[in-house]
Amino acid sequence: MKKLSVAVVGATGLVGRTFLKVMEERRFPVGRLGLFASEKSVGKAMRFGNEIHEVKSLAAEDFSGYDLAFFSAGSAVAEQFAPVAARHAAVIDNSSHFRATRPLVVPEINAAEAVAAVKSARREGRGTVIANPNCSTIQAVLPLYHIDKKFGLKSVRYFTYQAVSGSGMKGISALNHAKNGIFDDFYPVDISISCLPAIGDFSLGGSAKEEEKMIFETKKILSRPALSVSATCVRVPVPNCHAVAVSVELASGFAGEQTAADIRDLLKGKEGILVADDPARGLYPVTPFADGHDETVVGRIRSDSASACGIQLFTVADNLRRGAASNALGIAEKLIEGGAFD
Ligand code: NAP
Repeated sequence: MKKLSVAVVGATGLVGRTFLKVMEERRFPVGRLGLFASEKSVGKAMRFGNEIHEVKSLAAEDFSGYDLAFFSAGSAVAEQFAPVAARHAAVIDNSSHFRATRPLVVPEINAAEAVAAVKSARREGRGTVIANPNCSTIQAVLPLYHIDKKFGLKSVRYFTYQAVSGSGMKGISALNHAKNGIFDDFYPVDISISCLPAIGDFSLGGSAKEEEKMIFETKKILSRPALSVSATCVRVPVPNCHAVAVSVELASGFAGEQTAADIRDLLKGKEGILVADDPARGLYPVTPFADGHDETVVGRIRSDSASACGIQLFTVADNLRRGAASNALGIAEKLIEGGAFD
């Protein structure tokens, strides 16, 4: 298989380190590798496979010769440097900066959009940017995609329980500090004993940024602009892996325990999904089932007594892998399969 020249921007961060781990695990065809981070990390040594790489500065980099650039360094870095990288490389960005304007891709759902965009750009001798969705959105839309195709979604309500690793290195430090009795100010409350219903800035209407992302991105990924979606996002004192409780309303005619059983059967064996749903025997999605893995674990599938055609489910997934690095690598693998780098 042809080896690709790969840049990882934000290599020292939680997602960046996960990229390196998952690329090794999946034997991603890496030829030349460039690792980039902020100026404070320049010169730092990092291991990939049997090689030690020095972290480099973005300042003088023009990305010529790179096939792929994975960005996980926040929106400001993406805004400034992704267009530079995209002169040559296919950029897959984990920030929210390009999600409204570029293909927003979950490989099991709409990889074809990424393949078409990259192929068309490369025909013109340039790269382009593909956006990786929000971590909670990715895990939830995977089952919803299949449910929508078979039963027709009318509405979706999300309630999230999000790990501190979703805030990056500083989130993990804040939880560890708080457990040791040190309040470091990163969160507005002691996160070791709090559920915090405030992820991102608030809009005038009272929604938090994370909630707006889930609403917008669900409609875009499922190609359902008129779908009714709401979200309440909560940070919880869990180190890693997000959980999402999902209530959906289906098209009329689908309801009750039989529909819940049909959904359970529908989701079993689907790519990227693991069903854990036998609560009477203690089987339901818990974060350790997802930690270090790439599937969305789905369970607690049942009829919603508050809605005529309502179904409830619960998902957990590793936000650093499924919600970030593994999703982006999954897109890159689809680009390879689709001949985008031939
Ligand atoms: P993190 O642990 O805080 O890491 C941030 C990374 O960005 C570090 O490598 C940092 O380098 C680098 N960086 C910061 N400023 C930079 C600059 N001016 N120039 C170059 N590099 C710079 O954060 P993270 O959790 O990995 O998240 C990274 C991105 O992925 C964010 O956009 C986030 O929204 C997105 N994301 C995160 C998750 C998640 O679960 N954590 C999930 C989906 C998407 P230094 O080490 O040198 O500071």
